[in-house]
Amino acid sequence: MNALPFRWLFAALSLCILIEFFSNDRQSQNKRMKDLRRCAAAPIILALAGVVCAQNQTPLVPAGKTLEIAEHIYVIPDQRVNLVSNIGIIVGRDGVLVIDTGMGPKNAETVLGEVKKITSERIAYLTVTHFHPEHGMGAQAFPPGTTIIYSMAQKAELMAKGTDYIRMFKGFSPEIAELLKPVRIIMPNVTFAEEAEVNLGDVSARLLHWGSAHTLGDEFVFLPGDTRGTRKNGPEQIPASSVG
Ligand SMILES: [Zn+2]
Repeated sequence: MNALPFRWLFAALSLCILIEFFSNDRQSQNKRMKDLRRCAAAPIILALAGVVCAQNQTPLVPAGKTLEIAEHIYVIPDQRVNLVSNIGIIVGRDGVLVIDTGMGPKNAETVLGEVKKITSERIAYLTVTHFHPEHGMGAQAFPPGTTIIYSMAQKAELMAKGTDYIRMFKGFSPEIAELLKPVRIIMPNVTFAEEAEVNLGDVSARLLHWGSAHTLGDEFVFLPGDTRGTRKNGPEQIPASSVG
């Protein structure tokens, strides 16, 4: 079901309420009250327009925006686009760890392209911060031999809810449906209960599952040692919190 008409309907309805609100008061209110209400309306209308526009942006992982935020550590920022996750790339002497894939194989291909621009090292590991479609549902595009690793809790949640979430997300917009159409749900090769360490030779990452928060299988990726303590904390929050 395409949700677009409903969003416009919602926006139109809200607008009608606002006009009705004003017309009633325009006859009986003095000039100050009118001005006050006019000021109040502007942000609401803008916010409504913002919601509609944001939903309509195709959630594409951007190419050419990759940042090095510390030695070994790179991020592809989400550009504040709805349903685009921040992507982490950890480059070690013995291989690369990628954190999240973006929504669908098309976005994952962009991620793989960005890795190739940074290093010729092979992608040894892929981990995912949680099972929602914009985080891990591009795993099928990763090269054979990539070890997909995350917690048992996340695997169980993907098995239980993955297909339903794909169906739900497809209803958000035609663009999202297009990105998710080719998706095959790929299971991890390796799972852990609470913690695992990925050693890339000269840098290692600790994968941590501390219980449920945003989802039942949330994962944190912690990079100890000589990387100035920067770390990727949980779903959807890498650049601001870890660098600032
Ligand atoms: Zn999520």
